[in-house]
Amino acid sequence: MSSTLDANLRRALADRVRYYKELGIYDFYRQPVAADLQDSQEGVARTCPERSRTRPSPAAVVIREEQNLSATTNLGLADPASSLRQIREDLGDCTRCRLHKQGRKQIVFGVGNPNADLMFIGEAPGADEDQQGEPFVGRAGQLLNNMIKAMGIRREDVYIANIIKCRPPGNRTPERDECETCSPFLMRQIEAIHPKALVALGAVAAKTLLAINAPMTELRGRWYDFRGTKLAVTYHPAFLLRDPRQKKEAWKDLQMVMKELGLQAPAKSPE
Ligand code: URA
Repeated sequence: MSSTLDANLRRALADRVRYYKELGIYDFYRQPVAADLQDSQEGVARTCPERSRTRPSPAAVVIREEQNLSATTNLGLADPASSLRQIREDLGDCTRCRLHKQGRKQIVFGVGNPNADLMFIGEAPGADEDQQGEPFVGRAGQLLNNMIKAMGIRREDVYIANIIKCRPPGNRTPERDECETCSPFLMRQIEAIHPKALVALGAVAAKTLLAINAPMTELRGRWYDFRGTKLAVTYHPAFLLRDPRQKKEAWKDLQMVMKELGLQAPAKSPE
């Protein structure tokens, strides 16, 4: 790449290339500016080499990328809310994995404060979430709301998302390839929001984010570094509904998070 590139643009381009790699796109093809501006199939040509008719100059690549970046996403150049809008737009009416044809009603993108200090990450939408288009709105969501309230904050103060954005049939555990296909969008959401702390709810979220295969008893109760952001693991609210005795342990995890964020610990643990 040209060394005359502006430092900000160079950083933005590097981020963009990294993001494409996370989506599994590794090859980039250059086109000249003139052809570039006239070619109505330019998007296709860029990702499909066999359809690319011309050999471009490096400058054309820069101009094209600059145009892409002008409506910039989560490259540190836009505010979190517009980055999130851009990510949602990029996600589109997603058909990247089998879940789009296995009964999902809608994509459940995420909800909450784009400037949140704290982000919760669950596993996958269930029936209620699929119906309403919002994560954690069913019974598990009510318990999560209580947990958030017990931390001295409101649901609207945090951001809530899932590892995957479509309901798996029968609420089965997401397959590995579904997580791998969908999670780059979550990574971008995390990058856009840039919270002070992340809380992985349950084993699927923890194992996907940390790439560690260990039981929850080993995973929880400590901090991890997730791409420069602190990450804690706690029990999934649905698990806590099945085994309420573990709420005490979850509360310990949340107190650890509260301490980190300087939140006032209420006297009582959540019901
Ligand atoms: N369980 C999850 O993991 N996520 C939801 O959004 C709802 C239930």
